[in-house]
Amino acid sequence: MHGIENLNVLAHRLSPGSLLTDPDLLESYRQDWSFDPDSGTPAAVVRAADRAEVEEVLRFANEYGIPVVPRGSGTSVVGGSTAIDGAITLSLERMTAINVDPASRTAVVEPGALTVDVKLAAAAAGLFYPPDPSSYEICSIGGNVATNAGGPCCAKYGVTSDYVLGMTVVLADGSAVELGGARVKDSPGLALAKLFVGSEGTLGVITSITLRLVPHPSPAHTLVAYFPHMREAAAASHDIAVALRPSQLEIMDNAAVNVAEDFLRMDLDRTAGALLIACSDAGAAAESEVARMEKICEKLNSTAVFKTDDRFEGELFDRPRHAIYEALEKAGVVISDDVAVPNRHLSALTEGLAAIAERNRTTIVSCTHAADELTHPVLSYPHGNESAAVAAAVARREVHELVAALGGTISTEYGIGRQKRAALAASVAPELLSLHRRIKQAIDPSNILNPDVLIP
Ligand SMILES: Cc1cc2nc3c(=O)[nH]c(=O)nc-3n(C[C@H](O)[C@H](O)[C@H](O)COP(=O)(O)OP(=O)(O)OC[C@H]3O[C@@H](n4cnc5c(N)ncnc54)[C@H](O)[C@@H]3O)c2cc1C
Repeated sequence: MHGIENLNVLAHRLSPGSLLTDPDLLESYRQDWSFDPDSGTPAAVVRAADRAEVEEVLRFANEYGIPVVPRGSGTSVVGGSTAIDGAITLSLERMTAINVDPASRTAVVEPGALTVDVKLAAAAAGLFYPPDPSSYEICSIGGNVATNAGGPCCAKYGVTSDYVLGMTVVLADGSAVELGGARVKDSPGLALAKLFVGSEGTLGVITSITLRLVPHPSPAHTLVAYFPHMREAAAASHDIAVALRPSQLEIMDNAAVNVAEDFLRMDLDRTAGALLIACSDAGAAAESEVARMEKICEKLNSTAVFKTDDRFEGELFDRPRHAIYEALEKAGVVISDDVAVPNRHLSALTEGLAAIAERNRTTIVSCTHAADELTHPVLSYPHGNESAAVAAAVARREVHELVAALGGTISTEYGIGRQKRAALAASVAPELLSLHRRIKQAIDPSNILNPDVLIP
């Protein structure tokens, strides 16, 4: 790639050890959790020590027209942090400072801090940082902001974007801007910090984030209910979400229940059309909230309901949902997707998934964050089986077509990355695509930042 022979210029501008060119080390930055076999090999990896080094990298890249792939922990499942041949991968993993200010209920964090450490630091100050992607123990907070990550507790607490008060971003030309800050109400001009949330490293490199923290919730009470059909489970989740504010509201389909039972052997009802798992962390009101959930489930023909106020038993109730990925990963390659359809179409979605799985002789199970109407269809096939891999790819395309036909969306929390660019182009209005391109062109005119990601 043109200009890359000048890497020694960049090396001189950085502290010793920040720039890596050893092929063995570069290898470990090629892929992310999408495990794309066509990932490139970076010419160099910079493990930035601070914002000044991020600025140097972008100034250099801008000068020589070299693409830069920002990278947190590399857990993207859509190829958002996959390396590009001859480019620079800019890792934020060494920038991990976390400063909690209990007085303003905010935290200023560097992007490389793991989400679990942000949660623990908040908890140590008696506060709560809610967003809980399942990957929270291995992903970075910068990656969460760059993808607008979410998880089960977003049912009540919202997604990452709802906690971002401000940030510092280094733009493609190496200049830094501060957006927002430790103020809950703050709107001088456009809400630009929000523009960078979910921008997947295509508009700037986030070097510091100011997060809003909330009071720590009470321990959760948990309910599980079996339903003969997804239709009733979807209706129950709708009625619960309309009447109450569950801290978690999940539904597993029949295929997911069976995968969990194969793995755990905990006597789950294999014949159930759906298993609903709901929690309330409403303190003194939790017991009555769960009692109301029970009534709603019974009214909608649940075949069995169990509830508990014991934390450990509650975790056991939730165990089948967590076991899905463990079980499928043991058996083969797993592709988790993140789609959404309106609640009234949830039943049609699960029926459609079963038909697609049968037609393509592949496995698809689904788990739904029901309060957010967000479904994870999880495809899997045996390792090293070429024809099964092709069938799974066809099945995934058919899933996206089904979602579009049901008036849904093909991306809700993982981002678009490289893998869903074509699907994005096919699923949004041309004017919206054009607006994306114009914003990119205005902020990164040389198309240096993550050029193959998000924007088709
Ligand atoms: C087992 C597993 C479970 C998962 N569960 C969930 C889930 O429940 N919910 C969910 O939302 N996601 C989930 N994910 C996906 C992934 O963990 C999230 O997208 C996460 O936010 C990525 O964080 P990261 O630090 O690994 O980012 P990376 O993979 O390194 O990067 C992701 C994207 O963000 C950009 N980026 C990273 N850091 C910065 C920065 N400082 N500035 C600008 N751009 C940056 C990258 O260029 C890339 O486009 C899961 C992944 C795995 C492997």
